Amino acid sequence: MSADHVTDPRADHQPGFRGNPRPGHTPTGSSSTTAALKRTGPAERAAVVDLAAIRHNVAALRSWVQPAALMAVVKADGYGHGAVPVARAALDAGATWLGLAHVSEALELREAGISAPMLAWLHTRDTPFGRAVEENIDLGASGWELEPIAAAAQRLERPARVHLKIDTGLGRNGCTREDWPQVVAHAAELQESGLIRVVGIFSHLAVADEEEREAETDEQLELFHAAVETARAGGLNPDVRHIANTPGILDRPDSHLDLVRAGLGIYGLTPFTDRPAADFDLRPAMSVTTTVAQNKAVAADHGVSYGYRYRTAAATRLALIPLGYGDGVPRAALDAPVSIGGRRYEVAGRIAMDQFVVDLGTEDPAVAPVGAAVELFGPKSGITADEWASAAGTINYELVTRIGSRVPRIHVDTQPGEDTGAPTGPGL
Ligand SMILES: *Cc1c(COP(=O)(O)O)cnc(C)c1O
Repeated sequence: MSADHVTDPRADHQPGFRGNPRPGHTPTGSSSTTAALKRTGPAERAAVVDLAAIRHNVAALRSWVQPAALMAVVKADGYGHGAVPVARAALDAGATWLGLAHVSEALELREAGISAPMLAWLHTRDTPFGRAVEENIDLGASGWELEPIAAAAQRLERPARVHLKIDTGLGRNGCTREDWPQVVAHAAELQESGLIRVVGIFSHLAVADEEEREAETDEQLELFHAAVETARAGGLNPDVRHIANTPGILDRPDSHLDLVRAGLGIYGLTPFTDRPAADFDLRPAMSVTTTVAQNKAVAADHGVSYGYRYRTAAATRLALIPLGYGDGVPRAALDAPVSIGGRRYEVAGRIAMDQFVVDLGTEDPAVAPVGAAVELFGPKSGITADEWASAAGTINYELVTRIGSRVPRIHVDTQPGEDTGAPTGPGL
């Protein structure tokens, strides 16, 4: 782990500074917070992301799936955690691939100087396939994409690297079973003519997060193996077969194959409603923090926030928390937990665009004064993103991914130089 892997969150918000170390900016390796504080003062609100947790999780998942290789999925800005620093931390801890939905997301990582193998799998007619080929970005293909990919390869006189996707049940992208032989034949033809190389065959699991639905995952795996056989019989000889997401990684060792695509797990979150992350030795990487913006005494029966959904039961004090749905804190999260000064409270009344209120249940002005530390969720308070997600009727994936751009990502490293103990296997 080297110090330059600690990223200044502000840099990501300033065009032109992306990936360019500034003169006079010497990362300490301990925390980018320190650097951020020096320039602009403390962050008023932050999504603090611990890169040591990311490394720990990647190493844990790697040891779980060995000898399969691990692709760290860092789409959607690393599930809201910051794609570039997360990608670097994951590679440090032994991930050998990076996974993205869009080619444009992969190009951003290339621009930041990351040269690891990358796969992007969700395309449109407007996807910059040529840029992907130039930048050595692997492309998922379900059928129609083969044509524009081959055209780009021809133009650039450079073979494109393709992973063919079979739909084994999810019904999203991926080639249907019926069309598979035809797509395999087309890909084999293009490979024969030197325009593409089929380096992978992949699919995506649909219900592996629901343990009682094992039979449906069995069926997906069977279909997948049959599709690989068809591809081999059709003259393709892929390096990697991959189907496992985080649920598959944690619950279905028979889905690991040559490569796994780990998203949620590397952020330290669990895909299962009934099994916490700690059961798998995963550590949540993100904490959402701010400070109390106001603390005031009110009488009994005082309305709180739009619609007066909450009324104070007795004379009390209200703390104002300066985060709302404009920051990605879901309005639907009624009664969600929140920690102030290390004590656990609940959201009172509706969450608004910029703020919400907590009934402190005391008339003591020393409790939760202006400036007191607030954590919505994170390892310090022990409140999980799962609790917020369940209060909002959603899943932890959506909760962390949607923390808004108004909340700066601050990357810290609680264990700089930590040896992850991850074997440094050959890159694929
Ligand atoms: C997002 C995504 C993943 C990662 O899934 P997790 O459940 O977060 O591990 C893997 N594969 C594909 C195709 C995806 O879109």
